[in-house]
Amino acid sequence: MAELPIWSKASLTAQALGKTDPLTRAVVPPIHLSSTYIRDPDNAYSSGFIYGRPDNATVRETEAVIAMLEDAEGGALLFSSGMAAATACFMALEPGDHVVASAVMYWALRNWLVTEAARWGLEVELVETDDLGKLQAAMRPGRTKLVWIETPSNPLWTITDIAAAAEIAREAGARLAVDSTCASPFHTRPLQLGADIVMHAATKILNGHSDVIAGALCARERDPYWERIGRIRSGSGAILGPFEAYLLNRGLKTFFVRAAAQARSAATLAERLSAHPLVSRVLYPGLPQHPGHDVALCQMENGFGFMLSVQVKGGETAAIGTAANVRLWKRATSLGGVESLIEHRASIEGAGTPCPPDLLRLSTGIEDPGDLFDDLDAALAAAHR
Ligand SMILES: *Cc1c(COP(=O)(O)O)cnc(C)c1O
Repeated sequence: MAELPIWSKASLTAQALGKTDPLTRAVVPPIHLSSTYIRDPDNAYSSGFIYGRPDNATVRETEAVIAMLEDAEGGALLFSSGMAAATACFMALEPGDHVVASAVMYWALRNWLVTEAARWGLEVELVETDDLGKLQAAMRPGRTKLVWIETPSNPLWTITDIAAAAEIAREAGARLAVDSTCASPFHTRPLQLGADIVMHAATKILNGHSDVIAGALCARERDPYWERIGRIRSGSGAILGPFEAYLLNRGLKTFFVRAAAQARSAATLAERLSAHPLVSRVLYPGLPQHPGHDVALCQMENGFGFMLSVQVKGGETAAIGTAANVRLWKRATSLGGVESLIEHRASIEGAGTPCPPDLLRLSTGIEDPGDLFDDLDAALAAAHR
């Protein structure tokens, strides 16, 4: 990325790296929809493009922005979903490889790991990676090929020390991959802390408008593992579509202002809800009483993100009742959009979840934080009447 000027990431993101259309001088480049490209008379493909499944110019433009945001020397790859991006990292391993992953993590990926990945011959071990002793003890030097962490992790916002986990992985001959969806590059850049791969559900705050399903991977270096991930994307047809890539790039232009506002609001809500008589506990890494607060202070900047959870007095019934009574918050799964979402998380995760039954997961949007608090306050009161 040596050719980029020294402007801040916020400036570069706002203008999508300054890319314009040389043909028309349009400020916003066109969407490249073509599935195929003309071969030169001498049988070469001088444009570098052959077919739409391996590669697309609009997708590349968005990948360049995400690679810049993550300081990814190896580049970025966009996938048709966060799950497509994450699972490619595991499909690129060999049968029999040992994998250590966070016990508290995005539920759908955890399910895929213990069912499909195991069936394909990966030995998956789930440990509480926020406890570095447990992570260290789970490593099998030479056999462990990938350590997968999520930080802050769904839905308890557990914090794993990325630099320490990278060290533990490297010593055992394994790579470290970080699902950084909920930290986002606004707060944390895992590659700078020693991670090898960063994954984003770009569906969430990177796009920010709840209208795209997309996933991203970023690599510290272009090595054979990263090249295999690229071949898996191409071979399985998991590339992001050009319309979605365009929308994602459009969403990214406001990423810095959205992420700043959402983190500020989440911090305000966490503080105010901590003092609420109908709330028994607030889980937010920005609170000094959160078990991951000290590590979060070291590896997060510009605040602590837009996600928090509350445990409600009165147990599961009161939690579901609170969600039932919100008006401004939207009762829906997902996170990171400009509209605030509330979810009774145990209901969607089902049997075996580490999520407590009295927990509500809150994704803070860009609405007035006072309105957001008042709406929750009224819903809590209604659930306890
Ligand atoms: C949503 C999410 C995913 C999966 O992304 P999809 O785009 O829904 O496939 C993975 N990890 C985290 C932390 C998420 O929030």
